[in-house]
Amino acid sequence: MSEAVNVTETAERKERNFIENEIDKDLAEGRYTHVQTRFPPEPNGYLHIGHAKSILLNFGLAEEYGGKFNLRYDDTNPTKEKWEFVESIRADVEWLGADFEDRVFFASDYFDTMYECALKLIRNGKAFVCDLTADQIREYRGDFNTPGKESPYRNRSVEENLKLFTEMKEGIYPDGSRVLRAKIDMASPNINMRDPVIYRIAHMPHQNTGDKWCIYPMYDFAHPIEDAVEHITHSICTLEFEDHRPLYDWVVKECGFEEPPRQIEFAKLYLTNVVTGKRYIKKLVESGIVDGWDDPRLVSIAALRRRGYTPESIRMFVDLVGVSKANSSVDYSMLEYCIREDLKLKRSRMMAVLHPLKLIIDNYPEGQTELLPMPNNLENPELGERMIPFGRELWIEEEDFMEVPPKKYFRLFPGNEVRLMGAYFVKCVGVDKDADGKITAVHCTYDPETKNGSGFTGRKVKGTIHWVNAPTAVTAECRLYENIVDEEKGVYDPETGELNLNPNSLTVVKDAKLEPNFEGAKAYDSYQFVRNGFFCIDAKDSAPDHLVFNRIVSLKSSFKLPKA
Ligand code: ATP
Ligand code: MG
Repeated sequence: MSEAVNVTETAERKERNFIENEIDKDLAEGRYTHVQTRFPPEPNGYLHIGHAKSILLNFGLAEEYGGKFNLRYDDTNPTKEKWEFVESIRADVEWLGADFEDRVFFASDYFDTMYECALKLIRNGKAFVCDLTADQIREYRGDFNTPGKESPYRNRSVEENLKLFTEMKEGIYPDGSRVLRAKIDMASPNINMRDPVIYRIAHMPHQNTGDKWCIYPMYDFAHPIEDAVEHITHSICTLEFEDHRPLYDWVVKECGFEEPPRQIEFAKLYLTNVVTGKRYIKKLVESGIVDGWDDPRLVSIAALRRRGYTPESIRMFVDLVGVSKANSSVDYSMLEYCIREDLKLKRSRMMAVLHPLKLIIDNYPEGQTELLPMPNNLENPELGERMIPFGRELWIEEEDFMEVPPKKYFRLFPGNEVRLMGAYFVKCVGVDKDADGKITAVHCTYDPETKNGSGFTGRKVKGTIHWVNAPTAVTAECRLYENIVDEEKGVYDPETGELNLNPNSLTVVKDAKLEPNFEGAKAYDSYQFVRNGFFCIDAKDSAPDHLVFNRIVSLKSSFKLPKA
């Protein structure tokens, strides 16, 4: 067994997943002496929460076993790949804390090796150039019930194959006219083994290799070689590749790699009622329904970051979901649970009024302001306290006053007394209305005896409301979110296949009133707003003189952690 691995130490973690069990076995049996993993994204879009699972799983395993973790771009298909995605993927992986050090690789850097491997297969009689059209290849392949039919080109001589393949590379044949195929078994019950195509002609420049190549390797041939070249031990991928594993093993064996990597599959992470499909997101972006791939209503990693999710919360989520062999779907509320858990002891609880209504304290001296101490976090005294101004004119939430209260309404209504959080008791003595009868201000009187911290025990009140001193308030924009799709109707319309959009997915509150303690607030900083939830400074639109906040999550939870 390798010295780098200390199983007693790693075994302290609660439960080992099936991948860890397999790795333990491989190390114990001496199949490998170290652990090397990778995350292999194709740079053809932004990463989403499902990818985060794969990233953290691969990185976590490398870390756990004292091994290394590579970020490798699987950029073998020049049609869909873009540099923009290369950069966004790197930023996302770094942000998640999956440390690849300087281990960033591009599959396209191995095109020479792949070409050499193809030549080797040809020389060993394990690959041939086939002139059938794509349609014919499909037809000859057969299906689950019908065995495949051998290509008439299958028995070309090694010399002829070498000549044709070299000519393919030299660019003398048009796209689609010929392919290189592995010579395996047209009668295999596994269709992937029926002489799969491993190289195709595509006269198309590549973002990394430019015009150097006009033949490109297919995924099933390229991927195992990429892994083998990097000395990956455990090539962890999602379940849809299970049927491709025999081909993976065939490629690393026939190409003659020593200590070949081993593929292990796990179930994809799906979120219920959440849109992750690239095609749909692209449409939402292009039609302007969302503001880019990082719109906070989406679940790309960039969007979650902009919404105010932390790497810690995503890691907690991925841990809670666990690693499994069976596809399942988890609820978005679990993600919300994780961010609440992560932020609740770390962030200050600020006074912020989303729907302001003026409150005037008639017996409070005009022009006077006092500073009141306020604990930053009731559950975490380590965060200390701050001073907030209090005066005669305040903002309170519209919903905290009712002229005609229903039963069990303990907030402000005429004649009722409530506590202004951290300040005084106030009693409602009247209202101002405009010509249309709309309430424009609530009048109260306060009782100086009831000052917070004075030890007053004379009487009790049932309601406590929050407030912001009006003259010193900061006006801010707050964006409140709901699911982009209508959960009641279901994500997709069964007739059209289009998304059922939720018209209320974004509510913009233009003039929220905040206590004046947000100096220096910068992109991604987050806070709890009393009673209204956790909010994060928007990284795109916020400016020091016009703060814009995204609501990360409200304070109420519908998710319950399952009992272990
Ligand atoms: P495409 O449809 O373009 O292939 P993809 O989501 O599979 O999209 P890749 O770049 O091929 O994108 O994925 C990189 C890695 O992330 C792969 O190893 C893949 O198995 C893994 N992965 C993709 N989606 C999920 C998911 N929902 N849950 C867990 N892992 C995922
Ligand atoms: Mg893929």
